[in-house]
Amino acid sequence: MNPEEHRVLRESLGDHAIGRLPRDEAATVQAHLDGCADCRTELAEITSVLPALRGVDPAHLDSMPVPPSDLGERILAAARAEPRRRPAPRWLPVAAAAAVAVVVGGVTGYAIGDHDGIPREPVAVRAMAPEITASAVAIPHTWGVEIVLDADGFRSGSTYRVVVEADDGREVGAGEFVGTGADPMTCNLNSSVLRAEASGFRVLDAGGTTVLRGEL
Ligand SMILES: [Zn+2]
Repeated sequence: MNPEEHRVLRESLGDHAIGRLPRDEAATVQAHLDGCADCRTELAEITSVLPALRGVDPAHLDSMPVPPSDLGERILAAARAEPRRRPAPRWLPVAAAAAVAVVVGGVTGYAIGDHDGIPREPVAVRAMAPEITASAVAIPHTWGVEIVLDADGFRSGSTYRVVVEADDGREVGAGEFVGTGADPMTCNLNSSVLRAEASGFRVLDAGGTTVLRGEL
């Protein structure tokens, strides 16, 4: 393996992992990966942190305010200060920039604004039990309405069922979750009831008692 090629391509692994490389460059990187175990290992490490960055649309990164140019260096410096056997991975600046984009996006309303171009609609929720704290948004999909429930206080280990109420009186299951006690949870609940026909949703405990209600 040509060491110079190896060095140059390593710099591209972060972009490659998130699909930002032009097709010809991606092909070059892939060809190198086929013959370089070191780079395959590094790519696997990059890929393993991507779920933590889920929700970051790479297409949005360019339009985001630019993080301080020395941020990656500062994070690397902090990482180097930690005793460790391996040098800090080169893709860290990419991950740091993406993390900054998450923060910036949050500030500008990414979470409650558009989601893949689909508007998120805040939902008024009322918990029947004082220990439950909850907020919710509704996302109208072509296949039905999705409820994203952020909550804590549902009894740890207990199973809860969610139903979406339709205008015609139907109650349609939107899934189940297990309570997490004091730990915050975010739960995506998918229903086949279209947003235009949905009037609300309810969370039922194992005994069938409504413990939380949302108005749509
Ligand atoms: Zn390599």
